[in-house]
Amino acid sequence: MKFTDFNLKDTIMAAVTEAGFTEPSPVQRDAIPLVLEGHDMVAQAQTGTGKTAAFGLPIMSMMKGDGSVEGLVIVPTRELAMQVSDELFRFGKLSGLKTATVYGGTPYGKQIDRIKQASIVVATPGRLQDLLMSGKIKINPKFVVLDEADEMLDMGFLDEIKNIFTFLPKERQTLLFSATMPNAIRKLAEQILHNPKTVSITKSEKTNTKITQLYYVVQERERDDALVRLIDYKNPEKCIIFCRMKKEVDRLVAHMTAQGFKVSGLHGDMEQKQREVTIRAFKSGGIDIFIATDVAARGLDVNDVTHVFNYHIPFDSESYVHRIGRTGRAGKTGEAITLVSPNELRTIKRIEKDVGTKMTTQVIPTRMEVQNNRNDELIARIAETKVTDKAIDLVKTLQHDLDIVSIAHLLASMVQSELSVKGKDNIGLGLEEIELLIERAMQNRGNGGGGRNRGRNSGNRRRSGSGDRNRHGRNGRSGGGRSSRNGGGGRRD
Ligand code: ADP
Ligand code: MG
Repeated sequence: MKFTDFNLKDTIMAAVTEAGFTEPSPVQRDAIPLVLEGHDMVAQAQTGTGKTAAFGLPIMSMMKGDGSVEGLVIVPTRELAMQVSDELFRFGKLSGLKTATVYGGTPYGKQIDRIKQASIVVATPGRLQDLLMSGKIKINPKFVVLDEADEMLDMGFLDEIKNIFTFLPKERQTLLFSATMPNAIRKLAEQILHNPKTVSITKSEKTNTKITQLYYVVQERERDDALVRLIDYKNPEKCIIFCRMKKEVDRLVAHMTAQGFKVSGLHGDMEQKQREVTIRAFKSGGIDIFIATDVAARGLDVNDVTHVFNYHIPFDSESYVHRIGRTGRAGKTGEAITLVSPNELRTIKRIEKDVGTKMTTQVIPTRMEVQNNRNDELIARIAETKVTDKAIDLVKTLQHDLDIVSIAHLLASMVQSELSVKGKDNIGLGLEEIELLIERAMQNRGNGGGGRNRGRNSGNRRRSGSGDRNRHGRNGRSGGGRSSRNGGGGRRD
C-alpha cells in the first residue's frame, strides 16, 4: 500500500513525499480512507505509530484554505501541542494551511493573532477553554480531533473537553485518538461522536517488532558499571536512560558526565523553557544521552533514538511499553535494554507475559569485547578516510626522523589510546547463572515467597573461562563508528 492510493490532494501528497514517508503505517492505512469518506472515528494505536499523519493528512486534504479555522486538534500537553503543530505545519505548508499553537502560560495576544490567520488550531484544553469562554476567539472548525484522549482524561481534563464541545458547531467531523480505551473514553466518544467507525491496531501490530528487547542481570552495585560498559559497547547514536526517581536521574547525570558522555537530565519539574532547550539539543545531537524519569518522558517524540536503557526495571508493564516505545519509531529499528538484579527476574517474566513478547537475556560484554568492537570500527574508519594534503605533509615531516612503519605504529597507538575501554573486565552474571536463577524464581513463585535464596549472591559462580559462557557474538559492525563520548575519537564534526 502506498500513500498515492489515498487520493490525497496534490500539495498534501507532495508534502508527504518531502517528509520522506514511503509507506503508510497500519493506523494510517486504516484511518485515512475512513476520514476521507467523512466518518467520525475512534482510533486506538500506541504511541509512535503515526497518528498525527493519520488524521492530519486526510483532514488537511479536505480543507479549503479559505483563511478560517477549519480544523481543531486538542492535545493534553504543551509539549505535544508543539510537536503536533510542527508535524501538521510540514504537511500543510505547500497547501498554504497555517497552524496556530495554543497553550497556557504565555500571553494571549500573539496566540489570538495567530489563530486569526490559521487553518488549524492545535490546543491544550485549559487555554482553549479560556479563549472560548471569554469570547476572545470564535471558531467553527469542520474537523475536530481529540489526540491522546486517554492522557487528557488521566490529567483530569474531562470537564474542560465537554465544555469546549459546547462551543463547537454541531455539523462537524470528530476524530478521537487514544493509546488505550478505558471506559471513560468510550463514554466520552458516545457523547461527542456521531456513528463513529472504529480503528484498532491489533496487538501484534501494536507491539513494535522492530524493537529488540534485551535484559542483563547484574548485582545491585554493578548497575553503573554495567550501564557504562553497555553504552561503550552499543555506541548508541541517541539514547534515553530511564530511572525511577528524580534523585537517581541527578546522580546518574553527574556520573555519566564524569565519564565523558554528553548527557542531560530530564525532570518532570523542569521549567518549560529549559525543557525545550534540552530537547532541542537532544534532537540536534548536541546531547547524546537523555536521563529521564517516566513522567518527564511523557509524550517525548524524538526520532532516531537508537537505544532505550532501563537503569531499573519499571514498576509496571505499561511504563515498560511506554518507555521502550521511545525507540524504534517511524519504522526504524531500536533496542531496549533493561538492567535487572537477580531478584527482579520475576518482574521480567511478568512483564513478558503482560506485554506478550519475549525478552532475550545476554551477558555484559567484557572489556576485551568492547575493545575488539572498537578496533573493528577503527579499521573500517581508517579504510574509509580520505588522505589529505596536510596529512601527507605531516608524514613527510615525521619521516625525517622515523621510518614509515614506526610512524604508522605511533599514529595507531595514539588513536587507540583514545579508544581504550575502562572498567573491570566482567560485569554482571553469566548466562548459565541467569538461567538457573530464572528457573528458581519460577519455582519459588507462590511458594510463600522466600524459599531458598541461594542464587542471589553466592560466591561460587563467578564466570568460568569464556569458552563455556555461551556468549552472544560480537556484532561486527562496520562503517563509521562514532563514539558517544566527547573526546574518545568521536567523529563529531
Ligand atoms: P503517534 O502520534 O502515534 O505517537 P506520531 O504521529 O508522532 O506518532 O509519529 C511518530 C513519528 O513517525 C513522527 O516523527 C512522524 O513524522 C513519523 N511518521 C509517521 N508516519 C510515518 C510514515 N508513514 N513513514 C515514516 N515516518 C512516519
Ligand atoms: Mg501523537
